[in-house]
Amino acid sequence: RRVTRNSPGSKVRVVVRVRPFLPLEFSPLAGKRHSCIEVCKDKDGVGEDTLYIKDVKIGRRESYKLDSCYGENDDIDRIFSMELEPLLPMLFSGCNATVFAYGATGSGKTHTMQGLEEEPGLMPLALMSIFSLSKTTKSTVEVSYYEVYMDRCYDLLEPKAGEVSVLEDSNGCTQLRGLTQVKVQSIEEFHDIFAKGCANRKIGQTGLNDASSRSHGVLRVTVTTGPADSENSQVGKLNLIDLAGNEDNRRTGNEGVRLAESSRINQSLFALSNVINALNANEVRVPYRDSKLTRILQDSLGGTSSALMIACLNPGSYQEGIQTLSLAARSKLI
Ligand code: ADP
Ligand code: MG
Repeated sequence: RRVTRNSPGSKVRVVVRVRPFLPLEFSPLAGKRHSCIEVCKDKDGVGEDTLYIKDVKIGRRESYKLDSCYGENDDIDRIFSMELEPLLPMLFSGCNATVFAYGATGSGKTHTMQGLEEEPGLMPLALMSIFSLSKTTKSTVEVSYYEVYMDRCYDLLEPKAGEVSVLEDSNGCTQLRGLTQVKVQSIEEFHDIFAKGCANRKIGQTGLNDASSRSHGVLRVTVTTGPADSENSQVGKLNLIDLAGNEDNRRTGNEGVRLAESSRINQSLFALSNVINALNANEVRVPYRDSKLTRILQDSLGGTSSALMIACLNPGSYQEGIQTLSLAARSKLI
């Protein structure tokens, strides 16, 4: 179960974020709850951190080594400045980057990516920083927001448009035909568009009594530097992705459509972890074609692109934690 150290050529960082317990999760009878997760940071701050997860009932404890572990005392600004901010300058020289939030429903993916008005997540924080960088380079910034649901792609900024077709051009690059791409010039302009897109995300109700996102939400930011439509312009893309929740169907009691959705979600998450695993192992053949999401992201995963996977954890669930960590570990194992 141990996660080995990333090789020097590794392309995808895998980090963990453990959310705090929520007020609702404290019961007056049970009192303070104990986290099943303990994070032990590397002493020098440069090596890997260790995460311990324990099941008190059976007295079992497992450990995982990850590129970095963030606990409940690490706020989003810290994760942004440590993990995402360093990736942004390369967008201005034509390189791509991708960030995933991965985890069970209720583990904090949407909180991490989207955030709240008073506590913006990585999506708005990235845009703020990109706008300030673009002032000196006079770059243009455009955004698209779409979701991948049951392996189909839908425009969140133009919900009536129906399914967006995924086409492959002669260079083997995938294109999303007809996807809305809006030029944004300020963070205020972005907030308006973003709020519209967020409201259009598909939400389902699971047996766990939680509103959960059943689709992968992708915010794509395209930064063009240099004269537009010229051979000398540099185009960099940043994909910020709130993945659908991975689910254990035995626990959710999913049936029918829910079960079909859930199997498709788990399948696409598995395909994604295989791609990341192949990239980290420097394999020649990367199985991008195994899912719609990895096909769409092909030009933003691997090559000169950087990627970051944030595995989100609920401190109160050993079972969910083990599921999430084993897939995160698969992404890193060589
Ligand atoms: P997911 O998108 O993974 O299903 P959410 O992001 O919706 O999960 O989080 C579930 C709940 O936990 C929400 O009410 C959210 O506001 C809260 N939450 C998640 N992460 C944090 C955090 N780091 N700090 C405070 N509250 C959080
Ligand atoms: Mg969510």
